[in-house]
Parts: sequence; structure tokens; C-alpha cells
Amino acid sequence: MKTEKKNQIKDIFDAYLSKKNYRKTPERYAILDEIYKFKGHFDVESMYINMRNKKYPVSRATVYNTIEILLECQLIRKHQFGKNHAQYEKSFFNRQHDHLICTNCEKVIEFCDPRIQGIKDAIEDTMKFKINRHALNFYGQCLDEENCSKKNY
Ligand SMILES: [Zn+2]
Ligand SMILES: [Zn+2]
Repeated sequence: MKTEKKNQIKDIFDAYLSKKNYRKTPERYAILDEIYKFKGHFDVESMYINMRNKKYPVSRATVYNTIEILLECQLIRKHQFGKNHAQYEKSFFNRQHDHLICTNCEKVIEFCDPRIQGIKDAIEDTMKFKINRHALNFYGQCLDEENCSKKNY
């Protein structure tokens, strides 16, 4: 990610920590950085392991509470895909998309379909309601038998 974008995100986090009187520890910034380097979705545990693998001395508790703070200031989004642990993803410089979740191999696929924007506009109009965000998850099975059937359980 470009330094400019990186600084923009850091500034948002910084301002939020100040506003809430939360401590500005290097660990928190490191977690933010890792999350924005990460492609796709992650759960708290896998982010913790990812940081430990990079020899970053963070505790599980710090990862948990930093993710909570990042959620509060909307730097990340939270998803609940089926029975899995909550999954997260960065929200800035990550365009709006929806998800297909395979209930067999648990793969999460992102897609964008501009027609959804059209549906949103039409609903706002008829319902006299201003929509700020939405979540759309389709559950089913990926038809990529090669990869999907391997993890059949
Ligand atoms: Zn996503
Ligand atoms: Zn699958």
C-alpha cells in the first residue's frame, strides 16, 4: 500500500485513540499495519498466529482488544459467515463487495455486482430510507470440485 494511504489510515486510528484516551502502543499500530497488508478475511486467532510467526511480540489479548477498537472506528468490518468464528477485513481502500460462502469447504469468495447498487437506490426511494451500509452473503457450494471436495466433511 502507498505511504500516503498508510498514513491516512494511521491518522484515523491515531485520532480515535486520542479521542477515547486509549493508549497508543506500538503493538496497536503494528496490528493495524498487518491487517492492512493482509489480503482477504481473517479471524482473530489467525491474525495472532500471523504476528507471532513474524516474531512480533504481541499477546493474544492485545490482538483481541485492538481488533475491537479498529471495529469501533470502522477501520475494519466484521462478518459472521455461517458457524465459523467472526471474520474481519479492512474497510478502507477496499471497495464494497459481497460474499459467497461455501458451506462445504468454508471458502469465502468476494464479488461485486453493480446491480446491487441499483436495488439499494430503488429501496431507498420506495421505503424513504437512507441506507448507509449493507451485508449480503450467499451460502451454497462452490462448483470447483477439485478444491472443494478435498475438504469434504
Ligand atoms: Zn470481503
Ligand atoms: Zn467449496
